[in-house]
Amino acid sequence: MFCRSIGYQTVLRAAEDLIQKASFRLPEGVEKALRSADSGGDGPGRDSLEMIQRNMDVSAREKVPLCQDTGLAFFYIRLGGSVVIEGGSLEGALNEAAASQYASLFLRKSVVKSPLRRINTGTNTPVIIHYEIVEGDELEINFMAKGGGSENKSRMSMLNTDAGEEGVLQFVLDTVTEAGPDPCPPLFLGIGMGGSFDHAPWLAKKALFRPVRQRHPDPLMAALEEKITSHVNTLSGVGIQGFGRGVTVLDTFIETAPCHIASFPLAVNINCHSARYAQVVL
Ligand code: SF4
Repeated sequence: MFCRSIGYQTVLRAAEDLIQKASFRLPEGVEKALRSADSGGDGPGRDSLEMIQRNMDVSAREKVPLCQDTGLAFFYIRLGGSVVIEGGSLEGALNEAAASQYASLFLRKSVVKSPLRRINTGTNTPVIIHYEIVEGDELEINFMAKGGGSENKSRMSMLNTDAGEEGVLQFVLDTVTEAGPDPCPPLFLGIGMGGSFDHAPWLAKKALFRPVRQRHPDPLMAALEEKITSHVNTLSGVGIQGFGRGVTVLDTFIETAPCHIASFPLAVNINCHSARYAQVVL
């Protein structure tokens, strides 16, 4: 069987570059969405939006972090079935990349050893890795620096099977309204629908990697993405940084999976305006 070898050092360097790229410059689509966001007119919302825009410029120019919360390091890996990592493990390379970059770029280390002991690991590791084994000989590495504020306000629910679109709209609206200013709106919403109790939140996180304004290929889901954005923007009253004016949600992305006949798993993973992610294919 044909195997393609990718060296440990190649993976390490690629992951380091991704962390650096994502920490100082937002993806093009996120930048565009923030620059053209509805500020809601004069007031603190508009002032905050202008500060967010200036912050993006300073961060890119001076190579300083986009936010003081430099995030938990997430990797979403799509690993071709014929790829072999030579000279070490993939997990080892991703953890080493995070440890080295969070140190050398002076990014805050935000990982504690356990929720109860709360002792900082000092390296921003371990990273969180989700794998998908796919056909082919490529290794796709997606990195996301995810802030605690938006992660804390994310929610999961097992809806009744007859909840329908109305149930989804209500749960997402309740989640964003209860979150208020805490996840630093304007937001991006990742919605995981289906799968199981453990799978739906992963789908919601995966959805956040999709480029801004790229709709789901299923027209029903694409329409629901638009509907959720507009529903929350009309009814939540949250607005920019929670000041009640301007846009609350910049875009919504749904990922779905089949589920049990008796279940309707639904997860909402909120991402803040500082939506830091990047991708490379080796
Ligand atoms: S929610 Fe985002 S913008 Fe707000 S503090 Fe956390 S990482 Fe920073």
